[in-house]
Amino acid sequence: MIRCDTTAAPCDPSLASIREKVEAGVRLDRADGEALFATEDIWSVCAMADLVRRRMHGDRAYYNVNRHLNYSNICALSCTFCAFHRKKGDDGAYERTTDEIREEARQAVASGATEMHIVGGLHPWLKFDYYTDMLRAIREEAPRLHLKAFTAVEIVHLARISGRGRDGIDGIRAVLSDLRDAGLGSLPGGGAEVFDDRVHDEAFKGKIRHGAWMDVHQAAHELGLHTNATMLYGHVESPAERVNHFMLLRQQQDDTLLQWANASDINTPDADRHDGSTSPAVVLTGPDEMYPQRRLPTSETCDTGWYQCAIPLPFVPDDSQLEALHGPTGIENLRTIAVARLMFDNVPHVKAFWIMQTLPMAQIMLQSAGADDIDGTVVWYDITKVEGAGTHQETSVVGLHRAIREAGLEPVERDTLYRPVTRAGETWSI
Ligand code: SF4
Repeated sequence: MIRCDTTAAPCDPSLASIREKVEAGVRLDRADGEALFATEDIWSVCAMADLVRRRMHGDRAYYNVNRHLNYSNICALSCTFCAFHRKKGDDGAYERTTDEIREEARQAVASGATEMHIVGGLHPWLKFDYYTDMLRAIREEAPRLHLKAFTAVEIVHLARISGRGRDGIDGIRAVLSDLRDAGLGSLPGGGAEVFDDRVHDEAFKGKIRHGAWMDVHQAAHELGLHTNATMLYGHVESPAERVNHFMLLRQQQDDTLLQWANASDINTPDADRHDGSTSPAVVLTGPDEMYPQRRLPTSETCDTGWYQCAIPLPFVPDDSQLEALHGPTGIENLRTIAVARLMFDNVPHVKAFWIMQTLPMAQIMLQSAGADDIDGTVVWYDITKVEGAGTHQETSVVGLHRAIREAGLEPVERDTLYRPVTRAGETWSI
């Protein structure tokens, strides 16, 4: 494929200093992030993101064969942006039985899935046992299926209903430990929305604030569980608030990866933290010579979990209490993926989640805007439905391969932990 010259200088001269930093592997600061959101030179922003994406992943683009399970849409909260939740007795309210969940697991195995992605509402009456039983039931039916389950707000809810809600991060750790014993493999990273108190109070009051969200992920990382980090954007937040969100997550990832980076001889120069102080930065997006051993952490080289993937999610207003808003446009979606790639310089992967971005848009994000992952075959997804889609939102491996290859990239099937998957007939191996 003929590619445009990604080494060209930006058309917007105010991006020149950012371009120099990106080329040199120097961390971008808050002002840089805000400039990337302000410029009209969107293609220079994308070119910089593509440069670092190719440094990190070459021509590879990742997907997986997965299934989503939404075990219940009944929720004690009523976030204004959410079209998924129902109250008990509402039309369309549901909770899956353990037998139904077992059947889902069997179907997942039959379809060759390597992962089940499990999230739901904050059900007011289900007991903690329901969740551990659900994981154990899937584990029994499908021992090899990786269970990526529960957003941070669900984990906090489970701490409350299991009587450990007042124990802070110790209670969170205990809940995660129980879930891990029942089969939990990692956390998906949803529910972060935008880390800002004003945005929180306007759009998802009642949900946990960012400190609690980050505590859940810190506890998971300490237990060796990997997680992802999302940002639901394009509703009531400002670009500066998006940058702030990126910086808070980046700072936490620095703290998580510092020991590994030092052991890997990666230079960790001081950089600004979110609060204006400085601390060592772990930058993974620089030129190859910055990484004398490995560019990215692996389970063999780092004994904690970490944020594997950053996932900007565009707000879909349809059927939510915020449906008077327009939601982000395609250009804003491209830009946000690209800025995420540039600001999340210590997160290995950036995902264009095709279900919410649409497959054609996700393809362009892989080709030009810094994304290296497109998610998977999905099958059932009840959280958001773009352009009138129903809960059956499925694409095939053939469809994913075609989208990736037409973007000029090489499809790599991965498992949840980004290990390449090899298939021979109906069997698969890592
Ligand atoms: S976003 Fe999550 S917590 Fe908020 S109403 Fe929807 S399901 Fe409930």
